[in-house]
Amino acid sequence: MKPRILISDKIHDKAIDEAKLFADVDLKFNLTPKELVDKIRDYDALIIRSGTKVTREVIANAGKLRIIGRAGVGLDNIDLKAAGEKNIEVVNSPEASTISVAELAVGSLIALMRNIHHGHSSLKKGRWDRSKLTGNELYGKKIGIIGFGRIGREVADRAKAFGMDVLAFDPNITVEDARENNCEYRELDELIKEADVLTLHVPLTEKTRGLIDTAKIESMKKDAVIINAARGGVVNEEDLYAALKKGVIKGAAIDVFESEPPEGSPLLELDNIVLTPHLGANTEEAQINAGAVVVEKIRNHFRNA
Ligand code: NAD
Repeated sequence: MKPRILISDKIHDKAIDEAKLFADVDLKFNLTPKELVDKIRDYDALIIRSGTKVTREVIANAGKLRIIGRAGVGLDNIDLKAAGEKNIEVVNSPEASTISVAELAVGSLIALMRNIHHGHSSLKKGRWDRSKLTGNELYGKKIGIIGFGRIGREVADRAKAFGMDVLAFDPNITVEDARENNCEYRELDELIKEADVLTLHVPLTEKTRGLIDTAKIESMKKDAVIINAARGGVVNEEDLYAALKKGVIKGAAIDVFESEPPEGSPLLELDNIVLTPHLGANTEEAQINAGAVVVEKIRNHFRNA
C-alpha cells in the first residue's frame, strides 16, 4: 500500500509531483491546530515548512505517523522530544540551499571588488564614474574560508575557478582534508592575517558568536574584505562598522544581520559595503530542492522500512 502524506505548508509543485509518484498526497494548508490534531491520525508522513506547529498534542494523536519532513532548515516548530519518544523520524533539508548560498557569497564578493553596486547606482543618477570605481581582481588573491562544510567547500571550488588560493580553517577537518580539496589548512589567527578575502560559513553557536571582532579585524591586511553570508552575530556588527568607518580593512559584503531587518543599523550608512537582505538561500532552485530533498528522504524511509 502507498504511504499517505499530508503536506500542510506550501512546498514547490515539482516536489509535490515527486511525492505523488510513490504516495497518496493530500495538500491541506492553513489548518488550525485543532484541525491538524484531528487529521494527523490518517497519515504516515507529514511535510511542513515553518508555518505548521507540530506540538506534543499533534504527535500524541499521530497514530501511524512514521516521519516528519521539514522542507528547509529550522526545526524549532517541531516538538522533537515528543517525536523521539514515539520513534517518529524527523528530517530536514539544509543541503538544499548550499549552491545558492555559495553563489551569493561569491557574487557579492565580485560586486564588492568591482564596485558593481556603485557603478549601477551612479549610472542611474546620470554619472559616468570610471576612474573613481577602479576595482581589484580576484585572480591570485588568497581567500580564507572559516567553516569548511557544505557551503564553504562550494565557495572554495568557485574561488579556485577564479584563480584564487584557498586557505581553510575548521576545527572539524584535518590538514589532509584541506589538501584533498586543493586548499591549504591554516589555524584561525594565521588565516585571518593572510587572507585578502575572509569568508564565513559557520553556524551561529556560543563559540562562533562574535568570532570576528575588533582584534581579529585589526590583524587583517589593510586591503582585505570580509564576506558574511553565514549568520548575523558571527561578525560583531559594531566592531565591523567601526573598522570600515576607520578604513582598518577595505570593505565587506553582508547578507545576514544580528537583527533582521537591520533597522537603524549604522552599517546601512557605509559606502565600502555590499548589503543584501538575507538572500543567500533565496532562489527558485533552493526552494525546489528544499521540498525535493525532503520528499526523497521520505521516499527512502518507506523504501527501507
Ligand atoms: P555545515 O554544517 O555543512 O558546515 C558548517 C561548518 O562549520 C562545519 O564544517 C563545522 O565543522 C564548521 N564550524 C563549526 N564551528 C566552527 C568554528 N568555531 N570555526 C570554524 N568552523 C566551524 O553547514 P553549511 O550548510 O555549510 O552552512 C553554513 C552556515 O551557512 C549555516 O550554519 C548557516 O548559518 C548559513 N546559511 C546561510 C544562509 C543564507 O541565507 N545566507 C542559508 C543557509 C545557511
